[in-house]
Amino acid sequence: MKHSHIRNACPVLLLSALLVLAPALLTACKKAPPEGSESTGPKTQGPAAQNQVSKTAFFLNTTVTVTLYGTGDESLIEECFALCDRYERLLSRTLEESEICALNRRTQNTLSDETLALVETGLKYSALSGGAFDITIGSCSSLWDFTARAPSVPDREALSKALAHVGYEKLSLHGNTVSFSDEGTLVDLGAVAKGYIADRLKEYLVEKGVTSAIIDLGGNVLCIGGKPDGSPFRIGIQKPFDAQGTPLLVVPVSGWSVVTSGTYERYFEEEGKLYHHILDPATGYPCENNLLSVTILSEHSVDGDALSTACFSLGLADGMALIDTLDDIYAVFVTDDYEVHYSEGLPDRFSVSGP
Ligand code: ADP
Ligand code: MG
Repeated sequence: MKHSHIRNACPVLLLSALLVLAPALLTACKKAPPEGSESTGPKTQGPAAQNQVSKTAFFLNTTVTVTLYGTGDESLIEECFALCDRYERLLSRTLEESEICALNRRTQNTLSDETLALVETGLKYSALSGGAFDITIGSCSSLWDFTARAPSVPDREALSKALAHVGYEKLSLHGNTVSFSDEGTLVDLGAVAKGYIADRLKEYLVEKGVTSAIIDLGGNVLCIGGKPDGSPFRIGIQKPFDAQGTPLLVVPVSGWSVVTSGTYERYFEEEGKLYHHILDPATGYPCENNLLSVTILSEHSVDGDALSTACFSLGLADGMALIDTLDDIYAVFVTDDYEVHYSEGLPDRFSVSGP
């Protein structure tokens, strides 16, 4: 028996119906905050809430919620959604009109400055992780469809052929021009795009004078400042596989990014085995280790997005060792016994509460 499970992507239809009826419900799709925490913003709108506004929409295959405090200006959020749309059309591996699609079809080999910047960041983390994170995973990831109605494990031989094309050293940059030493190599920025886009939304909002906000791209959370009263936002780190989205931990942060990669986010089961969406570039199959999730705390969301995927792929020991070499980056690893493992200095830097 198979069934698919996509925790960070509410179905579009359901979403649009709920959008009209109950915006507050949507945020419960992912990382619902505990009593007293505020990872997803206000639950009411109207006279009492004039000085804050929250809206949710579906972009990047996930639920996007932007919550602003100190302003009721919805047009700022609409502009954030327009930015999500624009970046999705640039960076998506699946939208035919995107630059990445054109690059993968080999119909275009020059990139815009923005796409180039993200490819460069992706290459940096591919090298830093020794290839455990690899933006050329595209030939393999395109064979897995975790969002399908009836997902299935790809054909072993097809996957093994696809695997031969994975390797970030097969891609080189000369200015804005990309060249591949292997015609079958495909770029997939899925593991870094949301972080990059969250950083762009923050830039836009800060430029518009916003000083207190939460940008949540399907659980990829980036804060602007803290709460209007000056205290930090309290961001929940979800308990893996918990149907209610109960937080395992709550981290107080101001201005920082909190990004999680986990087996429970997108997966399906086939013949009693769970297949999740973080692939091991050495095998083309989902990473098999004792991790359920990795959360990265960082200033910039692009670093958190890349490193949460990279550390998940590296596993607890190597992932933790990598984090401990990096300044101002902290991690929380959750193993399959639901034990929580903190990187060096995290408990001193953040007053984490629970479990
Ligand atoms: P999410 O997008 O659900 O938050 P991640 O940031 O961990 O999760 O990204 C997972 C996505 O990244 C996959 O859907 C796939 O497109 C891509 N990916 C999967 N495995 C790897 C990998 N080892 N290195 C780089 N990208 C990967
Ligand atoms: Mg990621």
